[in-house]
Amino acid sequence: MSRFFSKKLSHMAPYVPGEQPKDKRYVKLNTNESPYPPSPKVAEIMTKANLSELNLYPEPCSENLRKAIAKYYGLNDSEVLVTNGSDETLTFAYMAFCDEGIVAPDISYGFYPVLSGLFGKPHEVIPLKSDFTIDIAAFCLAEKTIIISNPNAPTGIALTRLEMEKIISANPDRLVIVDEAYVDFGAESCIPLIERYSNLLVIQTLSKSRGLAGARIGFAAGQKELIEDLDKIRNSINPYNVNKLSQLIGIAAIEDEDYFDECVTKTVNNRYYTAQALEKLGFEILPSCANFLFAKNKRLDGKEFYLTLKKLGVLVRHFDKDRIRDFVRITIGSKEEMDILLEKTEKILKGEITL
Ligand code: PMP
Repeated sequence: MSRFFSKKLSHMAPYVPGEQPKDKRYVKLNTNESPYPPSPKVAEIMTKANLSELNLYPEPCSENLRKAIAKYYGLNDSEVLVTNGSDETLTFAYMAFCDEGIVAPDISYGFYPVLSGLFGKPHEVIPLKSDFTIDIAAFCLAEKTIIISNPNAPTGIALTRLEMEKIISANPDRLVIVDEAYVDFGAESCIPLIERYSNLLVIQTLSKSRGLAGARIGFAAGQKELIEDLDKIRNSINPYNVNKLSQLIGIAAIEDEDYFDECVTKTVNNRYYTAQALEKLGFEILPSCANFLFAKNKRLDGKEFYLTLKKLGVLVRHFDKDRIRDFVRITIGSKEEMDILLEKTEKILKGEITL
């Protein structure tokens, strides 16, 4: 740390993204990316993009992409804000709506407590129940801005829209932020509730189900006043927050519904396939509605399993944290990638390979 670094932030613990080692080629099942390339329409639009216009700033509000997202979800344009990945939406939302702090499940996306630390806000947690589901009754009595990832990460377990609505309607004077990064893989979105609830903000991303993690596109959906508040923050931090190429790419990806359906179906099928195969190998798997599985096997130590897989060229994610230390989170890749994971896992279980 340099001597110039902010004293206020010197104790902040930054987010640690999933590792991206370069020492060899890994089967990468650790950061919940899509194994499939983005829509071919994305490549097509890139060839047509007028690169000579990159001397000009992009449209500040990502107007056309905003329209495309709004149209897809049946919202008004004024109910959508486009951001540089959904992590940016989360950051804006913390700045705009979390003066009194935040309440989140104890086991959830690691970026939430990091943002609370960054902005110096109290971060309260409500423990997941013993079956790793969200404690709906406790969230109905929350006293701060609520954030819930649905499906939750890293468990993959989702609440139904009706269950989410219980929390939203029980907290009319508190904002409920629903982070739907993984919703397309089998959960119900809360977007249809927006017109009835002024205290609901939904956050989504094109990083996962639309295979665009590298393009950094996320968005917020909520009633006009909430979006205007977020837009004030955007204009105060990074008025040209989404670059020209990403704006074009995002439109092509949103409009190619057939390709989106095809990729999501493949991922969901691979998830069932992998879950069944792991269960046969004695794994306990939480019921996932996401593009990953959270799995443990009483014959394996979570950290050792992760490290042995890494040695064998397969990356999964391990969280060295109470209650989930025994688990690993496995991103659903292509069928071929899942077969490699299963083959290596079988070898580890048979004791053929150790750390
Ligand atoms: N929310 C959750 C729950 C996530 O797991 C992630 C991905 N790490 C994000 C939001 C952010 O995704 P992105 O910034 O790529 O849109």
